[in-house]
Amino acid sequence: MAKKRKILIPEPRSKFIRVKCNVCGNEQPVFDHATFPVRCLVCGTVIVQPTGGKAKLVNAETVRVLG
Ligand SMILES: [Zn+2]
Repeated sequence: MAKKRKILIPEPRSKFIRVKCNVCGNEQPVFDHATFPVRCLVCGTVIVQPTGGKAKLVNAETVRVLG
């Protein structure tokens, strides 16, 4: 059987990072070049703002880089 691979990372420099919401403490992975605002899955606070390049963390901090 042939395996199909999904390509999830369009750019070599793009990666996922794990961030922690400063409001409620929830941790979740986000795309570091997000092109749209990302909200905390628990409290709904916007934690990532798009900038046109590397996304800017707001109300959140990086926990670790997932690669
Ligand atoms: Zn939160």
